[in-house]
Order: sequence, then C-alpha cells, then structure tokens
Amino acid sequence: MKRDVQLSPTPNADADADFRPRHPTPTPDPDPEDAAGVYPLPRMLSFTEAHAHVIALARVVAPERVAIHDAAGRVLAEDVLTPVDLPDADGSAMDGYAVRTSELTGGGPYMLDVRGESRAGGPVPALAPGAACRIFTGAALPDGADAVVMQEDVTRDGERVTLRTRPAPWAHVRKRGEDMAAGAQALVPGTRLGPSHLALAATCDRAWLEVARRPVVTVLGSGDELRAPGTATRPGTIPDSNSIAVRAMARAAGATVRVMPPVADDRAETERAFDEALRATDLLVTIGGVSVGDHDLVRPALEAIGCTIELYKVAMKPGKPLTVGRRGAALVLGLPGNPASAMITFALFGVPLLRALQGDLHPLPSPLAARLARPIRHAPGRLAFVRATLAAPGGALVATPLGNQASGASTSMAEADGLVVVPAEGGDLAADATVLVYFARDLGL
Ligand code: AMP
Ligand code: MG
Repeated sequence: MKRDVQLSPTPNADADADFRPRHPTPTPDPDPEDAAGVYPLPRMLSFTEAHAHVIALARVVAPERVAIHDAAGRVLAEDVLTPVDLPDADGSAMDGYAVRTSELTGGGPYMLDVRGESRAGGPVPALAPGAACRIFTGAALPDGADAVVMQEDVTRDGERVTLRTRPAPWAHVRKRGEDMAAGAQALVPGTRLGPSHLALAATCDRAWLEVARRPVVTVLGSGDELRAPGTATRPGTIPDSNSIAVRAMARAAGATVRVMPPVADDRAETERAFDEALRATDLLVTIGGVSVGDHDLVRPALEAIGCTIELYKVAMKPGKPLTVGRRGAALVLGLPGNPASAMITFALFGVPLLRALQGDLHPLPSPLAARLARPIRHAPGRLAFVRATLAAPGGALVATPLGNQASGASTSMAEADGLVVVPAEGGDLAADATVLVYFARDLGL
C-alpha cells in the first residue's frame, strides 16, 4: 500500500533527507551521553530518517465493521463502490421549467404552455409537445426534455411562460452518471473518514463500513514528582500534565486510550509497570526518563523486559531523546518528559504512527509556506520546531515565533497555532525568510 511518509519539508531541508535506511545501523555513537550504555544503540537519526523508520514499524491493525454514523474519524479498510450511476437519472439542478430545445426555433422570445410538474421524489412525467414542464431542483427530467430554464429567466403569466432566450441543450441538467458511473470507486482504503466521505458512502447506499479497529494506547508517565491533577499537593510534586495531552491527542487520532498511574523512579517498579502496560496494547507511550540522568530508567527497563530499542535519539529540537522500542507486535514510544518535548514528539511521531497503524495513507499533514515575521536563531545540527502564531493578514501566511521556546514551557505550547520548521543545517533564519509550517490542529496538537 502506498504511504505518504515524505516528511522532509523540502527535498533538501535535511542534509541527509534522501538517505533513509529502513533499519538504522547500530554504529557507535560518539556522543558522551551514551558512554554509559551497555547495549549497542542505533545511531542518532535525522528527523526524516527517524520518521520513515517509525512509520515503517507500523503493522496495520485488523478491520472491524461499524455503523456508518459511528465511522467519523476512522480509517477506511475496504473499497467503497457506487452500485448505481450517480446521479441515477437525468435531473434538474434548478427550480424552473423543463423544455425541449429543438422545439425553440427562430429568434426568441418563446411563449410556451406550462403542462405538468416534476418534483423530487415524484413520478417522471412526459413533456407534452410544444410545452414547458414545471420542475424543481433534484427532480427527474421529464421524458423528452433536454434543458431546464431557471425560473428567474422566465416571465410567467397564468399557465404560460415566456422565455427570453433559447437555452443550450442540457443547460441546468445533472446528467445521469456525470458524478460517477455504476461500479466506480468512490472511496479508497486508507481514507480517514470525514463528514464528506461518510456522505459519499451513504450516497453509495452503505449503512456500515469496514474500518481499522481502534489501536489500543497505554499512557504511562514516570517520575517521583508526578501526581494526578487536582490531587493533594506535596512539596516537590507537579501535576502529570503530559498524560492528559497525550491521551487527548491519541483519542483524536482514533485510539482507545488507557492512562496508568505514573510510576516512581524505581527500576523494579518501572519494569513491572512496563511489562503490565505492554500486555494487550498496540502502543505504549511512556513519558519522561529517557535522558541519561541517574533516574532515567526507561531504556534500561524496556530492554530488561525484552523490548528491542528500534530508535534512540533524533536530531530534532525539542525531543532529541525520543526512544522507540518494540516487543512482539507492541510498539513503545518513549517521550521526553518536558511538556513541549513530549507534546511535539507525540504530535510528530505518535499521531502519525497511530494513523499508520490504522492504514491511513497520509499519516502526516503537508506543511505550508509562510513568511517569518521575526528572525529565528538556530545553531546548525538538529531540525528545530519553533512554536509560532500563524495569521494571514494580507492574504499570505505569516508565522510569528513565540518568545518562550523552552522545552518546559507549557504556555507557548497552548498559545501556538503551529510549528515553524527550521532546517537542521543552515543556521539563523532572517525575518521575511520563507519557511515551512505545520498547523497545530493538523498535527493533532
Ligand atoms: P525527564 O524527562 O523525566 O527528565 O523529565 C523532564 C522534565 O519534565 C522534568 O522537569 C519533569 O518533572 C517533567 N515531566 C516529566 N514527566 C512529566 C509529566 N508527565 N507531566 C509534566 N511534566 C513532566
Ligand atoms: Mg523524570
């Protein structure tokens, strides 16, 4: 199945955008942060490589049958064909009068008797010779008629109408099959179903649809400092805000989500919690504990319970310590704990992964071009995602980077309309530079 995994904003935005191994080579990483690791780790990948690698890990879940009215937001898992021509008969696109153009000879105006009526859902009348038939939008074209004159273009006087001009043949007629011929494919598998897709499926007379079942996501925060929002505060504790954001994003991406209570920074407890979380789940999302601090236990705990580390560290900012693991069919996404890092990495990797697990043909939205309102300082090395407000005051999109880009800043995450993509190499961006941006809502943020 063809998948759009082209994530590099432009073909050369990432220096190594065209080099995308399916499996990253486990070469020694010169980064001293990894010196303590006892396992050979995959090297740090560029954002584009990492994305392609993560999407390639997705195995599409099994389909299930749902009622059409429950299918919004789900990903279609079958072909939907129209059983009949659409529309299934010649009909009127306007309220007016159906006529036979061959009878309107010589110069106008033309005066015709009004004989009969055709309305939506009613029987198909025959057009009497030399007459006009009253007709309404959606009604079948009377037998013998070949055009409709809009009622605004006639003068009606009792049972007669006067047409100023002769309509072209098939004017204001919806021809049988002009939208689709019987047997044509209306919807393809991999379509994320929005209201208009559902309407098209309904037009094809479908009462139910085969869609990918909802992937099961388990969210597990880690850290001694975490407590559930609204619970009694103790010194040094903070509310677990990331689980709330990830839950909302995963649900919106079509998943069934369960959130486990945060696990303490304890190796045995972490292993137990991970092991339990990995049962009956398609994707485990851990939050925090993926850096190299003394209390960062996620990677060793995953390895201890039999996970392979598929990816560790991505050349992106924020979100560098992103970790991806796998045990059997279950995937693990280890998000960094800082709120902006957690949300941005989940938006850029978790949401597309959930979409890919459902067979979505377009797991990541396309970026748009925008003009930068202010410069962005950037040290070459990692692809950066800069929170910005987006507006189109003069008709063209303008991105204004927000002041606080700290990875712990929750406020600028809430304020941002989108993310500006700052190419890994290339340094600072000047005001007025053309950049690529992702809309936050397209990313599921
Ligand atoms: P860590 O990645 O565990 O080193 O955490 C980095 C920062 O993110 C620390 O300030 C943590 O307190 C914070 N953090 C970690 N997990 C969460 C969470 N679930 N909600 C809010 N903040 C968190
Ligand atoms: Mg922590």
